[in-house]
Amino acid sequence: MKRRDFFKLVGASAAFAAVPLLSSCSSAAAPSAEGAGVLGQPQVSFSTSVDVLILGSGMAGLSAAMDPSEAGLSVMVAEKLDVLGGESYESNAVMEVCGSQLQKDAGITETCDDVWPERKEALKSAGVTDLDFAKRLFYAAPEWVDRMKSSYGAQFADPASYSANEANRRRVLPKNGIGDTESIMMPLRDKLAAKGVQFSTGYCATGFILDEAGKVCGVRFSTSKKDQSGVVDVHARAVVVATGGFASNQSLVRQYLSAWERIGCYTAASMGEGHKLCQALGAQLSDMSVTPSVISDLPQAAAWGMFAPTLVVDAQGNRFANEDYMRDLCAACFTQERGYFWTIFDSGISESGQARSAAQVTSKNASRLVGPCDTVEQLASGMGVSEDVLGKTVDRFSSMVEAGKDSDFGRKQFLKNLKPPYYALKQFPVRFRTRGGAVVDGGGRLLDANGKAIAGVYCCGAAAQGGGESLTTNGAFGILTGRAVTEDLGAA
Ligand SMILES: Cc1cc2nc3c(=O)[nH]c(=O)nc-3n(C[C@H](O)[C@H](O)[C@H](O)COP(=O)(O)OP(=O)(O)OC[C@H]3O[C@@H](n4cnc5c(N)ncnc54)[C@H](O)[C@@H]3O)c2cc1C
Repeated sequence: MKRRDFFKLVGASAAFAAVPLLSSCSSAAAPSAEGAGVLGQPQVSFSTSVDVLILGSGMAGLSAAMDPSEAGLSVMVAEKLDVLGGESYESNAVMEVCGSQLQKDAGITETCDDVWPERKEALKSAGVTDLDFAKRLFYAAPEWVDRMKSSYGAQFADPASYSANEANRRRVLPKNGIGDTESIMMPLRDKLAAKGVQFSTGYCATGFILDEAGKVCGVRFSTSKKDQSGVVDVHARAVVVATGGFASNQSLVRQYLSAWERIGCYTAASMGEGHKLCQALGAQLSDMSVTPSVISDLPQAAAWGMFAPTLVVDAQGNRFANEDYMRDLCAACFTQERGYFWTIFDSGISESGQARSAAQVTSKNASRLVGPCDTVEQLASGMGVSEDVLGKTVDRFSSMVEAGKDSDFGRKQFLKNLKPPYYALKQFPVRFRTRGGAVVDGGGRLLDANGKAIAGVYCCGAAAQGGGESLTTNGAFGILTGRAVTEDLGAA
């Protein structure tokens, strides 16, 4: 039998379904698959061969490309969409990290040791099970920031420009502030390309290809770009699954996160395809029911309260949460069934270094914007809320500003009165980030049900257990995985 004949496509349903295409050669009990095929599925025919094939071009996938490409391995990043970047590129890019050189240079002295106990408690209460691994990622995050800056040209804002308050000392921002993912992801893409990394967009991974020994030796993609069959097979020595989370997959959300089923999703591409691909290889999924995150459908606006004075009220004009942490605020709007909320702001946001974000969001969403208004009464009228209710909310907030203590919701940052002219922006809570995924070891090696590594397959970022937390930890996860791949291929 010719070697090619081993690459049988058994178990595939349709060309565009995310169902793995597995050879049955490894099963002794199964009838011979020789000569068999799946209707509508072309035989395996590799169009190209690389050392490392990375599925997904978000922060985890791009970061996983660093070590292998630096070691001279051939790397392909395959992305199902026509644009690179995934959820990472759509993010607010408010990056939680501490101990990076970038922060030290700005005189910020907090270390991972200082902050980890608090972070650990937050992860624990969200239901994250592998806290040792979470710690590993948290401690690796500063390395990711510094490597992004020094070796990949990422441009960050000077932390001294926004870190006057305690919480922001533990955050880094891209050069132009909230939402400016271009300043970090584009230089990364360009530097990787300069190192020879090949980017293929419009390539949706639909299945693994196994060789005669039952080992993964490639991936099948559906694509509208190549031959008439719409199928491309890529041979690889190692495959990294970095396909993001499953927040957009309604059936997975129903299965694992039913309480969040009736809320919309910010992204459309986080379909959990990598989860299913890994599962079909025998990997386990874990932490799938860890509380997902909720953000505003105008995500940047929800983050303004972290950098400037804002006041957030519900559809009736009542304050209901602490404005200085966007995710808790948006989650409260959903869990308390408040429907939607308004961020009330003044010129402070534009003066805070987040001018770009303020201009972008308000100009693109003029129909959701009320203001400028010289008085609270005018603002209430524009928002369609009772003048009396909003007036009382503003008065109560002012009394707490005067007292220096937010006794209602514990706001610590920017507990300040807004000054006219006032504006308000209407937003809806949406879910966006899931944290469960395939079980892997500390180097992202995919594990089977017995905890044994599945040769040649890795998984990182929001597709893996322990991933999905943030850009920094997913970037760090990518680095750890890329390092393991490079070592396993003997190129370290
Ligand atoms: C609105 C929003 C705001 C956010 N704000 C912040 C923030 O301020 N700070 C922060 O730290 N984090 C933030 N996040 C979260 C952060 O973006 C994620 O944690 C991170 O992007 C996950 O990275 P990833 O590489 O694992 O996945 P992604 O970035 O989602 O990348 C996965 C990629 O895989 C591709 N893909 C999926 N299936 C396939 C397939 N079958 N074949 C090929 N390619 C495939 C997807 O198209 C995507 O490009 C935000 C996210 C959103 C949506």
